[in-house]
Amino acid sequence: MGMASNFRETRFDDVTVLASSHGGAFPYGNTVVVTGSQARLVIDPSLDIDHDPVGADAVMISHAHEDHIAGLKHFTGDKYAHHADVDGVRSLQVLLDGYGLTSEERHAVDAQIGDQFALPDGFPEAIGVGDGHVFDLGDASATVIHLPGHTAGHCGVLIEPAGFLYVADIDLTSFGPMYGDVGSSVEDFLMSIESVRAIDARWYGTFHQKGVIDGSAEFRRRLDAYAAVIHRREERLLEFLARPRTIPDIVAHRLVYRPHVELPFVDAVERRTAQLHLERLEAHDQIISTDGGGFVRR
Ligand SMILES: [Zn+2]
Repeated sequence: MGMASNFRETRFDDVTVLASSHGGAFPYGNTVVVTGSQARLVIDPSLDIDHDPVGADAVMISHAHEDHIAGLKHFTGDKYAHHADVDGVRSLQVLLDGYGLTSEERHAVDAQIGDQFALPDGFPEAIGVGDGHVFDLGDASATVIHLPGHTAGHCGVLIEPAGFLYVADIDLTSFGPMYGDVGSSVEDFLMSIESVRAIDARWYGTFHQKGVIDGSAEFRRRLDAYAAVIHRREERLLEFLARPRTIPDIVAHRLVYRPHVELPFVDAVERRTAQLHLERLEAHDQIISTDGGGFVRR
């Protein structure tokens, strides 16, 4: 693909994965290129991408997070994202709104994103698409699959006839699913995990560390381990609610990050994650709220 220095290219039929030479942990990731007989599609150009390596006709953004649009400024082709996330691609300020930050946290996150990603103010020309949108590339097609949960508009892409399913930030890391945004949903994340589990593909590509998984058996095994993290967090929360606890107590206790991790968005993610699990536990009659604004196990 030429002059690639920051990434390693691997071919999977019509799909080329530009694997991050940094291992793919945030803020890096793996970029997907689909080469059809008539057109070329790039998905999630990462921070490792410093030019358009293929002259892409279209760029699909799986969701409005800065690591997935980090390399987008190098592309002149049409830019796409799901209707529910496209405003965050159009405007960096809308993207930041999605994190539900306090003004102090926002200042720190904004500065961090500025330093790390050097993003423009947004891509106002980005086009919204829905579930089932097909990019016809000639002898290959790429179909958008709406997989909400991580964000409201998070999407995967199924490339045929290759049989390559890109699952973006259903990333199978041992860290587990992330659902710390205003638009995140645990229920939707669990449903999206079931959606991808039901798709028989030859390869499954993730944006972060794991890269490409070979075959549905291995993919489903890893998916089970990944989904189990959601249930482990909920069990840990339930144990912690043996005594009444407020949301700030739960944020300090931490469900997602380890205690030593200090990043400007950690508290916001912990707050939203706690809130979503509390809603689930309340709906399932496992906890009750207390007079002091706390929650306790039944
Ligand atoms: Zn993300």
